[in-house]
Amino acid sequence: MDHRTPSLPPKTALTRFSVAPLSTMTRHLADVASGRAPADLVITGARVLSTYSERIAPEREVWIAGGRIAAVKPAGAHRQVSGAPGRVYDAKGGIVAPGLVDPHIHIESSMITACAYAEAALLNGTATIFCDSHEIGNVMDAAGIEMMLEDARHAPLSIFLTVPSTVPATSPELETAGGDLTPDKIAALFDRWPEAAALGEKMDFVPVTMGDERSHAILAAALERGKPISGHIYGREFVAAYAASGVTDTHEAIDRDIADDLLDAGVWIFLRGGPPTTPWHSLPEAIKTITELGSSHKRICVCTDDRDADDLMMFGMDWVTREARRAGMSCEQAWSMGSLHPATRFGMEGEIGGLGADAVRTWCCSTTRSRCRTPGMVANSWSKTERSRRCSIRHSPTPIAIPRRRTARSMSRSGRS
Ligand SMILES: [Zn+2]
Repeated sequence: MDHRTPSLPPKTALTRFSVAPLSTMTRHLADVASGRAPADLVITGARVLSTYSERIAPEREVWIAGGRIAAVKPAGAHRQVSGAPGRVYDAKGGIVAPGLVDPHIHIESSMITACAYAEAALLNGTATIFCDSHEIGNVMDAAGIEMMLEDARHAPLSIFLTVPSTVPATSPELETAGGDLTPDKIAALFDRWPEAAALGEKMDFVPVTMGDERSHAILAAALERGKPISGHIYGREFVAAYAASGVTDTHEAIDRDIADDLLDAGVWIFLRGGPPTTPWHSLPEAIKTITELGSSHKRICVCTDDRDADDLMMFGMDWVTREARRAGMSCEQAWSMGSLHPATRFGMEGEIGGLGADAVRTWCCSTTRSRCRTPGMVANSWSKTERSRRCSIRHSPTPIAIPRRRTARSMSRSGRS
């Protein structure tokens, strides 16, 4: 493993490091929220989608300071504050919604780098992703994962890692993997990289169920550090053993019955919306645990998992949330399942997923759909060129600096997961 110190991007780039930690800003944010100091930016005349209460409030404005939302107020309230805000943007009745949060994706499946992935994700309203770099891990071991993480830090998108847990994915008899992520290597990745938010999909469901020593040592590396564990639970017979082993999410709920089992076992569900021409589109069946069996949606998210590069524009997280709406959820519920719920699953609901304490760049992409009454619906009728033009020209309060692009030369796919 390369033991260089992880580097941070230059301050001129707009990345997730551009917004200072909340702990350093609380006094200033309190001043702005109380009207004692002006906001840097006010987005007024907006309808605001609250993922906390799942309602759209009319005639609101959002006060932003230091890249964070200081307050959401009635439209026009900034005129009663002494001192003019740095800038006022009139949303003209558009909807302001929190950026989407994809809880489970593999950037390598798109055969591009994190910075390149960010371009399409941002245009589709995704502001944060939790990626599992197990494909590059299969090829280059921990060094490949660290290369991906370095690149991800330069992306104008918040990228967190769920540390690959099952490399190699099978056995030497079935594959010739270039990586071997032992429990010690996984522990080292957690300790070196703060963005390592969870253990990635534990896909060896038979060994885990059978009590395999290495599989459970990997689970222990995450549990000892207080990190949640993402799973790949496929088959109702494995649900109990997986839940007992500390695995607390899966994106492999393929129908309403296993979805029901998982929810009652305390396992979060990421409904996977794959392009409809693929067999990976399990959302319409699994969502029936809500629409037919009466489950709550509070522990259910939506995700993309894998995307070919040419599907990124038309089948992003915004498309998946629309699929959830078509399957019977309200607009507000579907958007929450794509933003606040994933944030809550990873314990980050104070930073992302809602408009109570969120970053500017989260807003700037979400207003892509702000011209329509229903979040996400107008974008469906735009051409790709039109979407790109509208997004880049109208909806960025500050220009988004796309860092240099890099082309992956040695990325490989080892199949969907
Ligand atoms: Zn996956």
